[in-house]
Amino acid sequence: MEIDGLEHYLKASEIAKKIMKYGRELVRKETSYLKIAQSIEEETKKLGAKPAFPVNISVNGNAAHDSPELNDARQVKPTDLVKVDFGAMIEGFCIDTAFSYSPNSEHAKLIEAAEMALQNALSVVKAGVSTKAIGKEIETTIKQYGYLPVENLCGHSLEEYNLHAGIEIPNVERGGHILKEGEVFAIEPFASTGAGRVNDGDYCQIWSLNPQSNMNVRLPKSRELLATIAEDYMTMPFAARWIKNQSMLFLSLRDLEKQGALESYPVLKEAKKDAFVSQAETTLIVEENGAKILV
Ligand code: MN
Ligand code: MN
Repeated sequence: MEIDGLEHYLKASEIAKKIMKYGRELVRKETSYLKIAQSIEEETKKLGAKPAFPVNISVNGNAAHDSPELNDARQVKPTDLVKVDFGAMIEGFCIDTAFSYSPNSEHAKLIEAAEMALQNALSVVKAGVSTKAIGKEIETTIKQYGYLPVENLCGHSLEEYNLHAGIEIPNVERGGHILKEGEVFAIEPFASTGAGRVNDGDYCQIWSLNPQSNMNVRLPKSRELLATIAEDYMTMPFAARWIKNQSMLFLSLRDLEKQGALESYPVLKEAKKDAFVSQAETTLIVEENGAKILV
């Protein structure tokens, strides 16, 4: 069957596999959040893709959407559990993938729970299967390890220039979309020692243009920034540190958000204090009798 952008997906897939290997080696020696994120983003470009979104370096109870700022001084500590989430995009077709790492073997079982949940989920993917059955695999696997899946974080369908294209793959037994051949999905189980729920934090470094916005912005400074964003990133997420002109940047970003021109993606934190969260993620194309796994 004809799959929209297949050639681009396959090229992005080759690149994402290389970045995955590069990233897994990198976190073993580099501890600066900023250097890890920037090095992976640079490597992505060097290999011929674009970062589909800013590299997320989310540590311990921060489950997702933490991306370093310019001059970020944070370092991974020996007791930390790190999630590295990155994307490779070719002509708008994106691979979304993540891995977890800790220098401390104490987190090994939690990391394995997310990885095994992903493997078990992949083993049931094929055309005709319900997203509910996939969520059930994830939930059952993570609970067997003695943890909770994060129920308000989901996998998702992907389309051209659209990372979250509307269909969810839940991490619990829920939902009812029937997978169709040729659909592209990211599956991303999160295993938690906490409540199994995340809330928005205050820290926010990731934004994207709201495609529904009418771009009618009054302040010249904000208008100028919005034009730059539309030109450079279209509707894809970007990091504040990617913007060249940093003068009064956050005032303009907040202004644009208030007017509905931008969406913000604040860090997502486990509801329970001092919890640890692990993540595994891959992107796949649904096939008649299985899945083409792209990372
Ligand atoms: Mn994802
Ligand atoms: Mn991801």
